[in-house]
Amino acid sequence: MENQRETLPVDALFVGGGPACLAGAIHLSRLCAWLGEVAEAEGVNVFCGFPGKEVLFSGGAVTGVRTGDRGLDAKGEKKGSFEPGADIQAAVTVFGEGSRGSLLSQVDEKLGLFSGPGQCFEAGIKQVLQIPPDSPLAAQLGTVVHTLGPAHNGAFCGGFLYPMAGGRAAAGLVAPLSPGRDIDLHQAFCAFMTHPYIRKLTGEARPVEHGARTLCAGGPYTMPRLCVDGAVFVGDSASMLDPRRLKGVHGALVSGMLAARAVFCALAAQDLSAKALSLYQRELFASPLFADLWRARNFHQAVSRPGFSRWLHIAAQEISLGRGFFDPLPRHKPAKKARKPGFLVFGSEKNQFYLAKNQGSSYLSREDGVFLSGTRHEEDQPCHIILRDPDLCTGPCREQYANPCTRFCPAGVYEVVESSPHGPRLKLNPSNCLHCKTCEVMDPFGNILWTCPEGGGGPHYRFA
Ligand SMILES: Cc1cc2nc3c(=O)[nH]c(=O)nc-3n(C[C@H](O)[C@H](O)[C@H](O)COP(=O)(O)OP(=O)(O)OC[C@H]3O[C@@H](n4cnc5c(N)ncnc54)[C@H](O)[C@@H]3O)c2cc1C
Ligand code: SF4
Repeated sequence: MENQRETLPVDALFVGGGPACLAGAIHLSRLCAWLGEVAEAEGVNVFCGFPGKEVLFSGGAVTGVRTGDRGLDAKGEKKGSFEPGADIQAAVTVFGEGSRGSLLSQVDEKLGLFSGPGQCFEAGIKQVLQIPPDSPLAAQLGTVVHTLGPAHNGAFCGGFLYPMAGGRAAAGLVAPLSPGRDIDLHQAFCAFMTHPYIRKLTGEARPVEHGARTLCAGGPYTMPRLCVDGAVFVGDSASMLDPRRLKGVHGALVSGMLAARAVFCALAAQDLSAKALSLYQRELFASPLFADLWRARNFHQAVSRPGFSRWLHIAAQEISLGRGFFDPLPRHKPAKKARKPGFLVFGSEKNQFYLAKNQGSSYLSREDGVFLSGTRHEEDQPCHIILRDPDLCTGPCREQYANPCTRFCPAGVYEVVESSPHGPRLKLNPSNCLHCKTCEVMDPFGNILWTCPEGGGGPHYRFA
């Protein structure tokens, strides 16, 4: 029957398209595409272009995922091309949606996955640069430059820069996220890229690709329950990133492989309970991966602290193999009130000077960044960013925080239109969205809900 929802039965469903589900200085997007081909050759069905929108439950067990509807217009009305999402009924579902997964949140809401205050996050911008053959960096293949800083509004950022084969280099900056702290990731990244030391190395490099993403950086103390009846959680979804070394691909791959083995055993034993699937958790906790994660268990909680105390904590952790002064180290409590934009400085006055001197007002505009990410969305579809209470934006959020979304979003999705006939209003540009999910983490009122847009939309990386 036309427009009827289809139900697809499968043994095991992996949700996500990153290394956690399909498998460094490698092209991760190409590796995942290649692994997808390998999986298909082995008889695995790879459903591309269909985001998982809703988790299906039967009692307290996960039974699969409903994919998103296609062909709805901006008002949510069905277009001629409408296709309802399908129900994929799986014996076991493996969630690998990356950092800040929306399906993970649904499972957490229903089954309670976290015993503590939940996960904590950092956000990063990464660029691929085309470097001139005569730039100093081109001659240093194999070298990785790490930087402490630039400082950004009291937040400690860490930068990296390394050359790759083919006359390219990767450059990036990562900052800890605390809701309430005024942060402008894009400006911090521009300050990093225009710092004289970085400019000396990159010379006349030209950015050819740009992207942003949050990282689930809290480590073992912020992991969810890894197994529930009918489901397991892998990769960044399950805090498998080592924030000390900014390594998450390895954690995603290893956790995905261990989960696959546990799922295979559970299917063979026809027991899909959390207890049967907990083989995954046991193997993970005994693995070298977990030893690395354990070493970094208090790292993010230290770096996200303000001022000099962070260095004391980090030094103590280095000496005591991750223990530090307190174990677990409580996370830094977010500021009660963010600064108004009049006080907003990115980095130091020096950084502002570098920006002005080297690149005019900015190294790269947010819009150019969006262009370089290859981001594409169907324009005529329901907005995938939901403001739970739009009045909060023009009321308390404007008064207390001066709409920080206009600064923390690296893609300029949030814009305040001052000259609207009914007073200032928040305008959304969802088709710019880089899918980094910084807004969900950083919104001081928890007013923003990020949902998956229609399948196939989002950044399309070629070199990263
Ligand atoms: C700036 C930066 C630099 C980094 N550098 C390194 C590095 O040098 N080395 C390293 O090891 N790690 C690095 N990382 C971390 C690394 O990228 C992540 O840890 C790793 O990609 C996590 O893999 P994942 O599969 O868990 O999640 P992801 O790579 O985030 O993949 C998740 C996938 O699931 C898809 N998805 C999400 N929701 C849904 C849904 N509902 N339905 C269907 N699909 C969905 C997403 O589109 C995405 O393709 C870096 C991260 C950043 C931000
Ligand atoms: S709207 Fe949110 S998810 Fe999209 S780019 Fe901006 S901060 Fe990132």
